[in-house]
Amino acid sequence: MEKVSKRIAALADSQTLAMNQKSKDLEAQGIDIINLSVGEPDFFTPDHVKEAAKKAIDDNFTFYSPVPGYPDLRKAISAKLKEENNLNYSSAQVIVSNGAKHSLANAIMSIIDPGDEVIVLAPYWVSYVELVKLAEGKNVVVETSLESDFKVTPEQLEKAITPKTRALLICSPSNPTGGVYSREELEGIARVIEKHPNIIVISDEIYEYINFSGKHESIAQFDFIFDRVVLINGVSKGFSMTGWRIGYMAGPSWIVNACNKLQGQYTSGPSSIAQKAAVAAITGDKSFAKEMNAAFKRRRDLVISLMKDIPGMKINIPQGAFYVFPDMSYFFGKSYQDKTIANSDDLSLFLLEHAHVASVSGDAFGAPDCIRFSYATSDEKLKDAFQRVKSALELLR
Ligand code: PMP
Ligand code: GLU
Repeated sequence: MEKVSKRIAALADSQTLAMNQKSKDLEAQGIDIINLSVGEPDFFTPDHVKEAAKKAIDDNFTFYSPVPGYPDLRKAISAKLKEENNLNYSSAQVIVSNGAKHSLANAIMSIIDPGDEVIVLAPYWVSYVELVKLAEGKNVVVETSLESDFKVTPEQLEKAITPKTRALLICSPSNPTGGVYSREELEGIARVIEKHPNIIVISDEIYEYINFSGKHESIAQFDFIFDRVVLINGVSKGFSMTGWRIGYMAGPSWIVNACNKLQGQYTSGPSSIAQKAAVAAITGDKSFAKEMNAAFKRRRDLVISLMKDIPGMKINIPQGAFYVFPDMSYFFGKSYQDKTIANSDDLSLFLLEHAHVASVSGDAFGAPDCIRFSYATSDEKLKDAFQRVKSALELLR
């Protein structure tokens, strides 16, 4: 009998990865698709990082690494957190995993019991709610609006907290909205958390280096909640290393130790070669990240100017990451030929079919009025893509 477990049956496919695949399948059929679906930098991994990986192979770093990662990598991460973020984590408080997604999964699995509530701020990154479901936790979704740049207020957060709340998931710079919390905004949130000693904050900072609003701020900086913050980061976005699969967590020892136990049974330590590459990325010259940030800022400005030219798209100005997340509800109820657009899923598919532009429906992010476009591609493609989107939307009456 072909029967998957209830756990897997209840799990949704990752919509970001699914749209990316759909777009690649259409391209393979010879259709000229502009793929603005998946979020990954379009730059090549820096040469000095590639060289470190080649050397790692030649130096025979081809055996199992320690489960939480090589000591030099954990030490480099601990030093980075001190130097760049002024955070005091010993290397024993760092665990390296197969991408930040894996670090998040470890954290959620390690602290959530069945029935525990996890506060997730919508629009949220697609995998958060699914990982909470896997841990048999209960997602408590707090909605934010475009008018407030999709950021939660301390009052909204306070209202969502119950005696069963065990964790808050926060992402800044945010996927999918590009919202960036200021130090003051984070302090407001931290003050609420301070009052509830049972709550752990899981802070996803994977877009740290893609920030147009100035200095990166981490919620871990507030001493009064520091021992309840789990910081998630990695090399995927900042060093354009999505395929290398290296992410990390820094946090209280009891959570890091729990993740170590889980990882020891589930995956072992991450790739030995990729870890050595990550050491080169984290300890090496950061000019690559700075140049990439400048390129994304330029593209952000370009995309916003292109979108302003499209009637019906409601936009805000993202301050980080590489996504725009317009409200497209103006188009709901409109039709072309025999197709009526009922929601963001329909609209995303319509754009794929009639503009040959791949996006991700906001539904997957808990924001059914919106659509996500990644602008991690060339200026030429972006200009072409938003011209196509404009023309396709004009078909809708
Ligand atoms: N968090 C967010 C918000 C993301 O967008 C992503 C996507 N890459 C991840 C975590 C996972 O990163 P990684 O590729 O390192 O697993
Ligand atoms: N984080 C990226 C995105 O949201 C990559 C895809 C994924 O890991 O889900 O598109």
